Amino acid sequence: MEQTLQASSKMDEVLTKRPLIISGPCSAETEEQVIETATRLKKTGKVDALRAGIWKPRTRPGSFEGVGTKGLNWVTQARKITGLPVAVEVATAKQVEDALHFDIDILWIGARTTVNPFSVQDVADALRGANVPVLIKNPINPDLELWIGAVERVAKAGIKNIGLIHRGFSSYGNTEYRNAPMWHLAIEMKRRNPDMMMINDPSHISGNRILLQSVAQKAIDLDFDGIMIESHIDPDKAWSDAKQQVTPERLLEILDGIKWRHETTDQKEFVVALEKLREQINHVDDELMQLLGQRMKIAEKIGEYKKNNNITILQTNRWNEILERAAKKGEALGLTREFITKYYDAVHMESINHQNNIMNS
Ligand code: PEP
Ligand code: MN
Repeated sequence: MEQTLQASSKMDEVLTKRPLIISGPCSAETEEQVIETATRLKKTGKVDALRAGIWKPRTRPGSFEGVGTKGLNWVTQARKITGLPVAVEVATAKQVEDALHFDIDILWIGARTTVNPFSVQDVADALRGANVPVLIKNPINPDLELWIGAVERVAKAGIKNIGLIHRGFSSYGNTEYRNAPMWHLAIEMKRRNPDMMMINDPSHISGNRILLQSVAQKAIDLDFDGIMIESHIDPDKAWSDAKQQVTPERLLEILDGIKWRHETTDQKEFVVALEKLREQINHVDDELMQLLGQRMKIAEKIGEYKKNNNITILQTNRWNEILERAAKKGEALGLTREFITKYYDAVHMESINHQNNIMNS
């Protein structure tokens, strides 16, 4: 017990390193591959923990589903050689038992598990009494409550050190990403769990090597605590997620290419200048709010007029005219059409609601 406690507080310390970098192959494939990946990652001097998928949840049957329990021997061997703590994904009670049996340092719950409360509960029950950090990936679908629910289930099982991994969300239609980042959801999750570590997984967001750098940079700019990124000694030949993996040496280039910014600084001039600009933003925001309030008052007057004259709320022509006018003006001011459309949609909905209240009163 003593030993487990010591081991665990050491792990808590590892996880407080900023930026925290976890890397390793999507899947453990062979003992040599795991050990060589770990050795080359260690050599970068930038990696804090080794990841490797042992059991792989695959969308379609017939794909490589992981090497299974024997892979745990390989990762612990890699740990012994490199000194890197090791992290694996667990999705069932049996996998948790096996991972704990091998003293795996960090466990993570994958996106395909977080999505299912039954599975999360099974994993949480198996974790009861264990002294191991658990990282929880966001669910596949953009549902914050599921993510929070998974955190609560694991916390209720007595796990003290829980972290979050943002790996993007499945979305309908083709986007440039394999999983749309939907950064606002990660930011909201962080806002609701301010003391919980949150790292980003650029590999599963990107789905290819080209986007890795920019996704990782964005995460760091948004003050994420670190990244979990896939690395393989021979990416093109990887048995899973070949397109998004990079060699340990390429990983080092990516990490060196990131501009590490800090959330705060003690430099006085900078702090003062920032304060002033923030004040200006607050001022503009207040004015915008005032104006929006006025706009809604006018909408209510129109509502009264429409009510007295028996006219429908929505008049499509008028709405198209407003949008077109706004897009032209906005674009001249450097605002994107996408933003203007979203903004006007929101304003329009609010206007309709105000009119609706008047017309149905
Ligand atoms: C993985 O990390 O290899 C993995 C399966 O990721 P996710 O759960 O994010 O799909
Ligand atoms: Mn993967």
